[in-house]
Amino acid sequence: MRSTMGIGSLTIGQILRHGATWHSGREVVSALEGATQRSTFADIGAEASRLANGLRSIGIDGDARVGTLLWNNRTHLVAYLAVPAMGAVIHSANLRLFPDQLAYTINEAQDEVIIVDPDLVDQLVDILPRLTSVRTVVVNGPSVPESLSGAAGIAVLTYEALTSAENDVFEWPEVDENAAAALCFTTGTTGDPKGVAYSHRSIVLQCMSSATTNALRIGADDRALIVVPMFHATAWGYPYAAYWFGADLVLPSRHLDASSLLRLIQDERVNFANGVPTIWNSVLQELESNPSWDISSLERVIVGGAALPATLFDSFDKLGISFIQGWGMTETSPLVSVARPLANASPEDQRSQSLSQGRVVAGVELRLRDSESGHPVPADGTSVGEIELRGPWVTSSYLGGHGEDKFHDGWLRTGDIGTVDSHGYVRLTDRSKDIIKSGGEWISSVDLENCLIGHPNLLDAAVIGVPDPRWDERPCAVIVPKPGSSIEIEEIRSWLVGRVAKWWIPERWSVVDLIPKTSVGKIDKKELRQRYSEGALP
Ligand code: ADP
Repeated sequence: MRSTMGIGSLTIGQILRHGATWHSGREVVSALEGATQRSTFADIGAEASRLANGLRSIGIDGDARVGTLLWNNRTHLVAYLAVPAMGAVIHSANLRLFPDQLAYTINEAQDEVIIVDPDLVDQLVDILPRLTSVRTVVVNGPSVPESLSGAAGIAVLTYEALTSAENDVFEWPEVDENAAAALCFTTGTTGDPKGVAYSHRSIVLQCMSSATTNALRIGADDRALIVVPMFHATAWGYPYAAYWFGADLVLPSRHLDASSLLRLIQDERVNFANGVPTIWNSVLQELESNPSWDISSLERVIVGGAALPATLFDSFDKLGISFIQGWGMTETSPLVSVARPLANASPEDQRSQSLSQGRVVAGVELRLRDSESGHPVPADGTSVGEIELRGPWVTSSYLGGHGEDKFHDGWLRTGDIGTVDSHGYVRLTDRSKDIIKSGGEWISSVDLENCLIGHPNLLDAAVIGVPDPRWDERPCAVIVPKPGSSIEIEEIRSWLVGRVAKWWIPERWSVVDLIPKTSVGKIDKKELRQRYSEGALP
C-alpha cells in the first residue's frame, strides 16, 4: 500500500526557499578587514538567485561542478545554497592543502568554475596550469588581479560582474534528492585526499538529526559562529542547518586568531560556536592573559575533529560555557555522535560522558568489530574494537572507487578504535594507524596527549609511536611549553605517574616551538613520524 503523504523531495532548494521566506529577517554577519558585512536571509536568498542566473549564463548546467576557494564568508554561503539548488554540485576546495593535493582534488572533482577570494588568487594561479577542467575563474573582489589576466584559455571575471546585472528571480528546478549536492575530500591525514559526494537527501537528513535536542540543538534562538572552515565537511553542516532553522550566522572569514574570534563573540553576542580543540585552546590562552573580553553571551561550543582535552572542558565549564564534544568524519557528513551527559548520572559520570565521543545520533547505525578478525565486539565499555557505521549520510564508497578496503557488507570501517559502554557512549582510544603497540599491548596516543596537555606549563603535546628494538614500538612525546615557562622533562614524566599506566610513560621526548598541524588543525602525525625517521626528533 502506498502512503497518502506528499512527496516533497529533500533538497537544498527546500532549505533555501524555507530560510529565505520564513527566516527572512535573520542575519548573516560576515567579517571583513576591520569591518563587518551584514545581510538578511532574504538578501542571501535573492543573491542566490543572482548567482544561479550568473552561473547559468556562463554555461553551468546539469550536474556541473562549481569549485570555491573561499573563506567562511557571505559569498561562500550564497554558493552553498545556490549551486546545489540549481542542480549543480559545489566543491569547497580545501585551501590549506598542499598545492599538489589541492590541484588533485579540483581535477578529481572536475570543477569547471572556481570562485576565489582575492587573497587566495596567488594560490590558484600557482596551480592553474595543472588544472584540467577549470574554464572560468570568478574573483570575489572588486577587480581582477593582474596575475590572473593572462591565464591562457580561462575566462576571468569578478563576482560582482557575474551577479549584479542578473535579476533576483531564478526558476529553481526540481532536483533528484539522491543526486550529488556537495563534494568533500578527506584531509589526507591518512593518505591522498579521498572524495565523498553528499546528496541533497543526506545533507537534509543530517541537518534534521543534528538540530535535535540529543545533538546540536541549533535553532531560531541561536546566533552561531562558524569557526570550522566551510571547506571542511561543509563546516559540519552548520551553514545549512542554520539557514534552514533560522539561526543567525556569524562568519569569521580568515580571521581565526583568538583575539578576532573573541571580538566577534563579544561584539556580535554569539551564543553558539563550533571548532576544533586547537582553536579553542588558543582562545583559552587569550582569555587567561586578557580576562577583559566579554563572552557572557556564549552558552555552548561544539568541539570535534579531535578529542576534547579534559582541561579545555573544565576551564570553559568554570566560565559557565558548555563544551559539547561531537565525533564525525568527512565520510559521515560529518555528524555521528554527540556527547550529552545523562541527566540522572552522577556528576563524575556526567563529566566522563561529556569527555567521551558521545552517543550515536538518530539515523546512524554503529557497530563495534575486531579490526583483524571482523568478529563482533561487545558494547561493555571495556572491549576495544574498530567502529563501523552505516546510514543515509554515511558514504558507501569514495569517488573514483578509491579505498575499497574501507567498506565491507555495506558498512564503513572508520579506522577509529575504541569502546562503547552500555549507555552507548563511544570512547575513542586512537586511530588504527596512530595507536602504539608496545610489547603486544596497546598505548593510546590520544590519552597520553590529553594527559600531557593537562600540565600547567604545556601549551601543546603530540605522541607518536616509534620503532623500538625491544618493544617493537614505544611512544615518543613532542611537547610545546607555554610562552615564558621552563620545562623539565623529569617533571613532566612525574606528572604522568599515576595518571597513565607506568609502562605508557615515554622515554623519548622532544621540546619544540610548534607541533605541525594538518589543513584542518589536527596534529599531523604523518609529518611527525617523517621527522622522527629523518632524525629531526630524538
Ligand atoms: P581526515 O580523515 O582526513 O583526518 P576528517 O576530518 O574526516 O579528516 O577526520 C575524521 C577523523 O577525525 C575521525 O575518524 C577521528 O579519528 C577524528 N575525530 C573526529 N572527531 C573526533 C573526536 N571528537 N574525538 C577524537 N577523534 C575525532
